Amino acid sequence: MSTVKIKDKEFSIFIPETQILEAIQRLANKINEEMEGKNPLFVGILNGSFMFAGDLMKCIKTNCEISFIKVASYSGTSSSGEVKQLIGFNDSIKGRNVVILEDIVDTGVTLENIINQLKEHEPADVRLATLLYKPAAFRKTFKIDYVAMEIPNDFIVGYGLDYDGYGRNLRDIYKIVE
Ligand code: 5GP
Ligand code: MG
Repeated sequence: MSTVKIKDKEFSIFIPETQILEAIQRLANKINEEMEGKNPLFVGILNGSFMFAGDLMKCIKTNCEISFIKVASYSGTSSSGEVKQLIGFNDSIKGRNVVILEDIVDTGVTLENIINQLKEHEPADVRLATLLYKPAAFRKTFKIDYVAMEIPNDFIVGYGLDYDGYGRNLRDIYKIVE
């Protein structure tokens, strides 16, 4: 499919599944190298990261655990800047080498909130991994350790990412047609 319609908006194909999976494999190679023997705890941010987390975990070779938290920060096609925890962290974070898995970093507001909340649980180390990163929209100063793909400042859907709840099931990534 080269275009899809979701609710009132039209989207055109932007990143096909094969490219997504190649980028994830490259990211996993780096994580495998750097986290070997560190017993990492991956923490996926729901809902958006579920597909990324699934495909990434299949490429992780080192001993690890995975868990998820759920936040809500976005409505429609622009960031609200507010982050609500719907499913929170638990106490098993203490002393762990945590790798946060995010679908996309836009302004960075969501991730900064999550990092601050996570640090209260006293992890040994916190690293950040994201499938997508919009450098032109980023307003924060923290370092993102693992970025699978950088993209321009357009609204996208698919591969876990939604437009008002829909489109998460698409296996490719689509860009909004303005
Ligand atoms: P930030 O707080 O970095 O501005 O936004 C991060 C969150 O906003 C992401 O976790 C994601 O849920 C949502 N988001 C940011 N950009 C996009 C986009 O282009 N498409 C979709 N579907 N969600 C986005
Ligand atoms: Mg998200």
